[in-house]
Amino acid sequence: MPNLLFDTLFAPLSGQDRPLLHLADGGVVTADAFYRLVARIAGALQGAGVVAGDRVAVQVAKSPEALAVYGAATALGAVFLPLNTAYTQPEVAYFIGNATPRVFVCDPGRAAELAPLASSHGAQVLTLAADGSGSLMARAGDAPDHLAPADCGPQDLAAILYTSGTTGRSKGTMLSHANLLSNAEVLARLWQFTDRDVLLHALPIFHTHGLFVASNISLLTGGQMIFLPGFDQDQVVAALPRATAMMGVPTFYTRLLDDLRLTRNLVGHMRLFISGSAPLLAETHLAFEAQTGQRILERYGMTETNMITSNPYVGARRAGTVGMPLPGVEVRIMAEGAEVATGEVGVIEVRGPNVFQGYWQMPEKTREELRDDGWFITGDLATRDAEGYVTIVGRAKDLIITGGYNVYPKEVEMALDEVPGVLESAVIGLPHPDFGEAVFAVLVARKGVTLDPGAALAAIAPGLARFKQPKAAVVTDDLPRNTMGKVQKAALRAQYAAWFTPPAAG
Ligand code: AMP
Repeated sequence: MPNLLFDTLFAPLSGQDRPLLHLADGGVVTADAFYRLVARIAGALQGAGVVAGDRVAVQVAKSPEALAVYGAATALGAVFLPLNTAYTQPEVAYFIGNATPRVFVCDPGRAAELAPLASSHGAQVLTLAADGSGSLMARAGDAPDHLAPADCGPQDLAAILYTSGTTGRSKGTMLSHANLLSNAEVLARLWQFTDRDVLLHALPIFHTHGLFVASNISLLTGGQMIFLPGFDQDQVVAALPRATAMMGVPTFYTRLLDDLRLTRNLVGHMRLFISGSAPLLAETHLAFEAQTGQRILERYGMTETNMITSNPYVGARRAGTVGMPLPGVEVRIMAEGAEVATGEVGVIEVRGPNVFQGYWQMPEKTREELRDDGWFITGDLATRDAEGYVTIVGRAKDLIITGGYNVYPKEVEMALDEVPGVLESAVIGLPHPDFGEAVFAVLVARKGVTLDPGAALAAIAPGLARFKQPKAAVVTDDLPRNTMGKVQKAALRAQYAAWFTPPAAG
């Protein structure tokens, strides 16, 4: 039996004397060298007892070696489990306890802190630093540089990625070989990736965007990656002239727009700019086009489903929308048990070969969100227009119900973002003694502007029904965001929780 993911992504690299990864320091890793790295790391993992089905948890800085651990785990039929490098010891303790990996690879600087908890769950600890040093590579050095991959069927697990868990405990999303490969194949075709592409890769590789969307597509199509440790503006600007495509979160684009070096001249040769993981403001899309002539292609997806919709490669890329369902992926927009009419708001449900296998050891959570007939309830609220373009209006859990009326934060945010002096905004619902919830706005001012929150609210009043108008607003320096650029509304709700219901004095 073959090994679906390994055979398509990693095995073809063997013997290819061409660049695969261009590093920030000017170094180049050839395809063949990367294949041999994968083989040697697989040998090291095998030496540590890893067999098919075992989890290999990894919390390390982005590096060629870190990406090679993904290939090595795949080769062994093991389950790759990358963890956000920002996770603290108690968070890592939860993941290790929940996933019980055979091996946990961490930064040497954190080994003293994390090794005891990993050992207590029976995981062997290996270390890997950003520069490739540590016990993993020391062991890999002795291993053979060729391998015979383990057999894996399409439904076998390739990875577990934990959701960010803004409400309650993080859930381990089980992704099969077929889930990952089907999505990479569809996207590669749709976005016309070929072996002539050089992808500017500045995303983290512990998340679906950088690990699967970006790396899998590039590996699948025989392309090259400019593999940067993170989004460093100078490095990105320096790399753009050599790239054909870039994938980013919206903050990449807003930061580039603030940079005088971003000109038509710098990026005119580029084939494609893609954005996802968080909403790209229509204003950002339009400003990027005005400054560079490039129309950013926005797509939408999530850890559980891989990518779901995309604006077209050929055809109209509509600012503020996430485009149409990918080929082979079914999308429906539901409210009260039925599909909504065109233009009405409902929850997006998705079905297809991209949809995950369930949450690791959480059968009841799986049942709540993944229906028996294969439809996954995303929890994202959206509309679809007559031409099939989907527009996300927020998360269902962020929906505000004030005095019995539904308010979609995005609609209010879009109005606020139009007010002169407002750079961006986040609209949330806060507990209110009369209304149950009250609409509340958190505003960020443009550089050098003194923003009066009351005046901003007055400015949007003529265009919005009264129940949608925020009852209060504050101005803050910036919005709390996670590494993928998502605004952390739960954090804002916690911060301002007592705004309308101050604790009783005494
Ligand atoms: P994650 O599982 O971390 O990738 O988060 C998935 C969530 O990110 C989705 O459920 C959406 O709420 C959000 N998301 C991803 N892409 C977009 C997009 N293009 N526009 C708006 N929200 C997005």
